[in-house]
Amino acid sequence: MREEETFTNKVLKGIGVSSGITSGRVYLLERGRVSFAKRKIREENFDKEIVKFKHAINNAIDELNTIKGAVTDDEIRKHAFIIDAHMLILQDTLFHDEVIDTIRTEKINAEWALDIVVSRFLSGFEKVDDPYLRERGQDIKYIYNRLIRIMIKGKESSLEMQGIRGKVIIVAHDLSPADTIQLNLNRISGFTTDVGGRTSHTSIVARALEIPAVVGVGNITSLVKNHDNIIIDGDDGLVIINPSRKVQKDYVVKQLHLKSQKKEFLKIARLRAETQDGFRLNVGANIELLAEMDLVERYGAVGIGLYRTEYLYLSRKTLPTEMDHYHVYRKLAENKSLQYVTVRTLDIGGDKFASQIEVPKEINPAMGLRAIRLCIREIGLFKAQLMGILRASAYGPLRILIPMVSGIDEVRKAKDVIRECKEELREKKINFNEEIKVGVMIEVPSACMISDIIAKEVDFFSIGTNDLIQYSLAIDRINEYVSYLYEPLHPAVLRLIKQTIDSAHFNKIEVGLCGEMAGEPLYTPILIGMGIDELSMNAYAIPRVKKVIRGIDQDYCKELLNELLIKNSAKEGEYILKKEMARLFPADFVQG
Ligand code: PEP
Ligand code: MG
Repeated sequence: MREEETFTNKVLKGIGVSSGITSGRVYLLERGRVSFAKRKIREENFDKEIVKFKHAINNAIDELNTIKGAVTDDEIRKHAFIIDAHMLILQDTLFHDEVIDTIRTEKINAEWALDIVVSRFLSGFEKVDDPYLRERGQDIKYIYNRLIRIMIKGKESSLEMQGIRGKVIIVAHDLSPADTIQLNLNRISGFTTDVGGRTSHTSIVARALEIPAVVGVGNITSLVKNHDNIIIDGDDGLVIINPSRKVQKDYVVKQLHLKSQKKEFLKIARLRAETQDGFRLNVGANIELLAEMDLVERYGAVGIGLYRTEYLYLSRKTLPTEMDHYHVYRKLAENKSLQYVTVRTLDIGGDKFASQIEVPKEINPAMGLRAIRLCIREIGLFKAQLMGILRASAYGPLRILIPMVSGIDEVRKAKDVIRECKEELREKKINFNEEIKVGVMIEVPSACMISDIIAKEVDFFSIGTNDLIQYSLAIDRINEYVSYLYEPLHPAVLRLIKQTIDSAHFNKIEVGLCGEMAGEPLYTPILIGMGIDELSMNAYAIPRVKKVIRGIDQDYCKELLNELLIKNSAKEGEYILKKEMARLFPADFVQG
């Protein structure tokens, strides 16, 4: 039993994963821990345990089907595809065989065997650096918990929201996609969970539905009880339990400010990205899921500058086929509000992908067999994706983007494979866009240095500053100890970006930028000064960036850029930039 302690004004820090502020009553969703007995069994009981496991699989699939079938709300149904991914794992015969083998060889009960197989699988995920990939291990945990509960109790316990009047804030240890879908989302004004990260399903759904959410709070479920009052600050990643009147008042003011700001932002989102003196650029969005499409439209992106396709590989246990790719890309291609959709080919490798593709263990995977390097080695994998993109290109303005190019041979090899795919499609008389544009990510310093050579071989560039800064300044992008060195205004970074843009323009191709730097309004004048053709970012960042674009002259940006380019350090440049932005946009910037 938890002690019934009541906290007042207790502030907890988590990860703000969906913007906005909300306050209200807690609705605690708890299932309790799943525990099971570990039993050694005799040979004559093997079959009984195997049947129990198989029944659990069938029941779990039935339960998920029922959950999916019961969803009536269109908005929520869009997220049901994640349940399909779970069903695919449940239907995987390799997974079944492994558990059954373990029952037989270890002579143990089904729950224990499942536990061993899943733990083995999860230990692979836990070693992964990439938080997005690590989060996918969570899918396996959801399935594991469901199966164990079914084996013990005959069914998964439901998370029904009973006796609720008005809106509530959901507090849970974690929510699986099936849980989230079952919830009456119209009754929820906020989410907070003990675990989770930016890419957990709760976060993705919360963002898509614009419900404020803070995850990874640690032990929030043990600190609150039903009907406690809490504030969720999705921007600053804070949760405040039973706030004092003064704190409540402050947050009401902040909430009102955010609401009016959002109204203004949504108006700006629809306006053209054009400077006062007529320089126009495209503002695009970065996405990972089809579920984000509504957001993209609402926040005024004219296209998708970066579709990160890694999720397609991670939401399943087997590799996606050409047709799996095709169906997803076709949906994107058919969206009439987008002028272009840039599909980036697979950008993972090294130990991040061990379960599906055999790759050597690497000490430094960020510099190892990643992205295009892996695709060139695993041609079948690369071709399935390219064929999917090409097929879908018959339905809309898709473009192909090749990540992590470091030299011209990789570009040529990728283009050769694209040519082969086109040839195969022609032979099969399958339609595709013969003129599909092929671009490369410029995110390795060597690619910047030879951007004049690469520009002659491709249709467009997209500068990936997240990696470009990592590789040029030798800073591991996920290492917190060196994060202070991560400086987009470092003179070396500015020179590399400028050189790339100049090479593109000299060779008459378009160049965009899709790293986090694109969505940070402080840097917008610098990129306008360099004449960037496209900025692609998280959809929420679009209005702020558009506001700067619409409120400034390109000529002035060029002067500012020249001033920064002769500074010796990022700090000196940042000082000037902040001062200027505070002068030009006093409501949005403070002088540093
Ligand atoms: C980048 O490197 O800037 C980029 C946009 O790609 P990712 O963050 O997916 O590596
Ligand atoms: Mg990158």
